[in-house]
Amino acid sequence: MASPQNNTLEKIVSLAKRRGFVFQSSEIYGGLNGCWDYGPLGVEMLNNLKQSWWKSMTFRENIEGVDASILMHPKVWEASGHLEKFADPMVDCKECKARFRVDTIEDEMCGNKAYQGRKAIKCQQENNFTEPRTFNLMFKTFVGPIEDTPATVYLRPETAQGIFTNFLNIQSSSRQKVPFGIAQIGKAFRNEINTKNFLFRTREFEQMEMQFFVKPSDDDKWFDYWKEERLNWFVKLGMDPKKLQWHKHEKLAHYAKVAYDIEFEFPFGWGEIEGIHNRTDFDLSKHEEFSGKSLKYFDDSTKEKYTPFVIETSAGASRIFMAFLCASYNEELAPTADGKEDKRVVLNLHPTLAPIKVAVLPLVNRDGMDEKAKNISAGLQKNYKTFYDDSGAVGRRYRRQDEIGTPFCVTVDSDTMKDGTVTIRDRDTMKQIRISAEKIGSYLFDAGL
Ligand code: ATP
Repeated sequence: MASPQNNTLEKIVSLAKRRGFVFQSSEIYGGLNGCWDYGPLGVEMLNNLKQSWWKSMTFRENIEGVDASILMHPKVWEASGHLEKFADPMVDCKECKARFRVDTIEDEMCGNKAYQGRKAIKCQQENNFTEPRTFNLMFKTFVGPIEDTPATVYLRPETAQGIFTNFLNIQSSSRQKVPFGIAQIGKAFRNEINTKNFLFRTREFEQMEMQFFVKPSDDDKWFDYWKEERLNWFVKLGMDPKKLQWHKHEKLAHYAKVAYDIEFEFPFGWGEIEGIHNRTDFDLSKHEEFSGKSLKYFDDSTKEKYTPFVIETSAGASRIFMAFLCASYNEELAPTADGKEDKRVVLNLHPTLAPIKVAVLPLVNRDGMDEKAKNISAGLQKNYKTFYDDSGAVGRRYRRQDEIGTPFCVTVDSDTMKDGTVTIRDRDTMKQIRISAEKIGSYLFDAGL
């Protein structure tokens, strides 16, 4: 039987499809596992999320942006350790042929609906598995027409390496001094064995990463600083702090001195959405070793030359997009126009994230109200993503906007035609106020939009 938690996830996935947030990739061909497409509302919300991250990270003096290529020189992945170590030991169930990661086999068996079939559980009890084999998670492809080993390149499994390899280019061209950071948003690819839970674990996803280069002796101070900054970003975007927690890594990755995850409470349980890592001088030292080029920083003021330490904040845009969808999804009883109550589905998204900022609705489709509403919508569109809707009862139109998280609805009625005022309805309180149509822009601006 579906648990209430999984039921919530199913409702979110269904809303996401029905309203055009997220579709299965290549759906007409039966879909491609672990790949998803963002529809008209999804792409707006994802862009808003990325824009908010970008502003919060790079609209400061000591962080620069970059957009590195997805394909990189294959030596990058030798230096980073991905060729050797970015692999999960896997076992196959001899009976049902399902493949599992050894480190998460319990979760895979019990948590993943797809493997809750009787066979897999029976096999687990009998321990009927092959010997573990390692499986590299990087996707391979070839540069040029010949598909052989020297032509092999990889789709990047993380965006960080494009930052490390450009460290000195960016430092010298922007004349930054340590401490400073480099931020990047971009696609990453991992041939995950078990994709699951909607956007949580996918094969193609987007990361928002920032590497902050510091003097080695200052690493702890900056680590604490970025931990706080990053948690605050979620809270400022309306995430309930009770839905967030820290997880400290006891078993550290080969490059890390200390690592924490920010976890979010998804309907299926707590899951990592962002990692904050002290990567020491591992990456720059390795690239120095493998490229033969110095990546040391010369501090003019102290005349010291050193390899900076890196404090990394590594967030998954698509996973965080899903976290915000889950956090904002609510069902509640709400009054209807005829004085009764019915169920209202509402996404209480922070206005910054909402795909549509304002819907403009003529109360009825005549007496010039439709034309007036279209004019208002066109005016607002200079600054905001708006939506014009004139079909159906106005109460139903409000509900349709609630369901996609539109924070404000402007309604044009017969009074508008007399005195130029409109109503503005607030999604969360459902209260309406009346203001002059000319003041809508400043009202939205004051609301933080
Ligand atoms: P996990 O343990 O869940 O596999 P990870 O520790 O390997 O994740 P990192 O390499 O630290 O993850 O990546 C940073 C962020 O990128 C994660 O916090 C997550 O938000 C996102 N991410 C990683 N792998 C995936 C994936 N397969 N699908 C979607 N997002 C991902």
